[in-house]
Amino acid sequence: HIALSVLAVMAFELANAQQKVTATDKKVEALLSKMTLEEKVGQMTQITLDVIGKGNDRYSSFEPVMLDPVEMEKALGKYHIGSVLNTANNRALTTKKWFEIISEIQKTSLKLNAHKIPVIYGVDQIHGATYTAGATMFPQQIAQAASRNLGLIEKGAAITAYETRASNIPWNFSPVLDLGGDPRFSRMWESFGEDPYLVSVMGVAMVDGYEGKDNNIGHPEKIASNLKHFLGYHAAASGKDRTPAYISEEALREYHLPSFKAVVDAGAHTIMINSGIINGVPVHANYNILTKLLKEELGFKGLVVTDWADVENLHRRDRVAATDKEAVMLAINAGIDMSMVPYKYEVFCDNLIQLVKEGKVKEERIDDAVRRILKIKYALNLFDKPNTNPKDYPKFGSKEFEKASYDMASEAITLLKNQGNILPLKKNVKVLVTGPNANSMRTLNGAWTYSWQGEKVEEFAGQYNTILEAVQNEIGKANVMYVPGVSYKQGGHYYEELTDKMDEAIAAAKNSDVIILCLGENTYTEKPGDLNDLYLSELQTELAKKLAATGKPVVLVLNEGRPRIISRFEQEMDAVVQTYLPGNFGGDALADVLFGDVNPSGKLPYTYPRFPNATISYIHKPSEEQKKAEGVYNYEADYNPQFSFGFGLSYTTFGYKDLKVSKTSLKKGENLQVSVTVTNTGKVTGKEVVDLFTSDLYASSVTPDVKRLRRFEKIELKPGESKTVMFELTPADLSYIGRDGKSILEAGDFDVMVEKLKVTFTLID
Ligand code: BGC
Repeated sequence: HIALSVLAVMAFELANAQQKVTATDKKVEALLSKMTLEEKVGQMTQITLDVIGKGNDRYSSFEPVMLDPVEMEKALGKYHIGSVLNTANNRALTTKKWFEIISEIQKTSLKLNAHKIPVIYGVDQIHGATYTAGATMFPQQIAQAASRNLGLIEKGAAITAYETRASNIPWNFSPVLDLGGDPRFSRMWESFGEDPYLVSVMGVAMVDGYEGKDNNIGHPEKIASNLKHFLGYHAAASGKDRTPAYISEEALREYHLPSFKAVVDAGAHTIMINSGIINGVPVHANYNILTKLLKEELGFKGLVVTDWADVENLHRRDRVAATDKEAVMLAINAGIDMSMVPYKYEVFCDNLIQLVKEGKVKEERIDDAVRRILKIKYALNLFDKPNTNPKDYPKFGSKEFEKASYDMASEAITLLKNQGNILPLKKNVKVLVTGPNANSMRTLNGAWTYSWQGEKVEEFAGQYNTILEAVQNEIGKANVMYVPGVSYKQGGHYYEELTDKMDEAIAAAKNSDVIILCLGENTYTEKPGDLNDLYLSELQTELAKKLAATGKPVVLVLNEGRPRIISRFEQEMDAVVQTYLPGNFGGDALADVLFGDVNPSGKLPYTYPRFPNATISYIHKPSEEQKKAEGVYNYEADYNPQFSFGFGLSYTTFGYKDLKVSKTSLKKGENLQVSVTVTNTGKVTGKEVVDLFTSDLYASSVTPDVKRLRRFEKIELKPGESKTVMFELTPADLSYIGRDGKSILEAGDFDVMVEKLKVTFTLID
């Protein structure tokens, strides 16, 4: 043991010589040298609140939340547990209650822990402080991506950080940096969509908001972010949650890795691991991914936490370990620093202690993990100030914060179809508002809102407007009829629906000037959200068709976490508006779009498929050249989406001209300047997203992508106004990952495309 400590000191001194040692590093080292193995293992363990709660059962509605002194003593005293997550009874608490609970835990930990190490508390506050009553709920990530507004994303995350600290919570399991390109997957809406570049820049913006641009998470209004789920989580072959994925090294690095790399480079403090299996190996047991790639190649210095129960899953679910003990060995040796156990923590702790004693896990590995954990605790300032008090956060739930959420929703809403310019509607019309999503705060918010599956939203919904209420506020109650037509079954599975006065809805339609039909999905996430059929439900399709048959114009409002297929009735709709999961102010923002107070500017962050077997990304669609060369135009299912990635209409029109590159012959290593002029050619002020794509025409190693988004900018133009937008491309934008998993910059011709304009340049050696 002594020899090992001497070695550890030597290793530390060597590291000192190689890089700057901070005051925190010294404190961490001093503390580490005093800790016993048992104490170290405790730091590596995260339990769920229910384990130390009294009478708390995750699935019951038992209240109030209380802590059990005996269980606390055991976890925090005997087992030296270093981290707690989650909320009791899977429900939202007031800031006051959060403060009481977490300060009680901190008090107990400081009393029982020999070194007075505070606990680090983590919660999923993924679109606002989602588990705090009265907090500001933002649009979910997929909607934030549609806004294309990085400033608003950062601002929203900064507000979430503020309200999370107001709840005495310093750690947030957000953002999701997975690629959300598969609508079969139940968590697509938790992502920023299908494009690696979008996910990267938006991930950076969100982490800037949570941690501050300087990553000073000791600031009382900042929190530690958590990048998840490293790596390739949304790519399950079956489309079902936590089922195997098969991803080549090249695809992993080309598409899935860039977002994590960008945000690790931006200084994010913690990361959570993909609960799934890639190429046969559970990621939690994958040394190459966790240590070689993440810690060594990307140089990630922060804390690596498991997903829920994923150490025991190596034994119990994935069967790569014959016992619980072997599972612990695999995970810790692969590079896991903290295990979200979350229930039977004694098993994890006892096994890990045993493994170290048997030499099957080296103490250096334990020290590396604990060092990372203690560093975060110091960085969060928890040693000096283990609690933050709600009374120091007067802006919690303020109008100012609510306005930021509204702004995000109004920039996210995406106009997909507007036949005969039926929208915006006049304010003196008589409307029928109908559909299962018309009068629900739950569906506007999505899951991870006041509870895991979002089923408790209505309890907190009072002060916010559903779509129906927002439309009533806009044009007066007397002008609005409401009949649901179809409803989600109360207390049923999220996809269970019933007809709810469908005939009455049809009759009411005949007495209206226009129908606002609100379709989509009820809330879900993770395994409970697995799906067998991508088509929008039969009942909703029936309602849409019957309403269209009345001959009255129908405005289809979609409120869904993933693009459910609407090709069976889309042609019969006059307008289509995508709201995604726009949050508590999504109803208000939608009404403002429908009646012309807001000019829509959202853009689809994914490809909206037309058929279930045609869910291909824009990145891989066959090019026009390819189709021409083959003399065929009928590869319908190849790429004929309902709506393309990046699509979104406005109440005005934009013209593009003068796409120019600074050089038509570019030397390797040089940057390329690109400019394009955009004009508002319509009659109202509007915001436009200018997207720049590149395409490498031929590549020697792997088939090049058809095109890739490299830059974008959102601009606002008054009628008749023009702006020249400038972009700069770097060599990295022109490189691709070859068969050996290495980046290649290859001479040849490239296209630069903005809207329908295209210029070609040549990259030379
Ligand atoms: C989810 C994670 C989440 C964790 C903690 C897991 O089931 O996959 O995204 O952060 O639970 O609640």
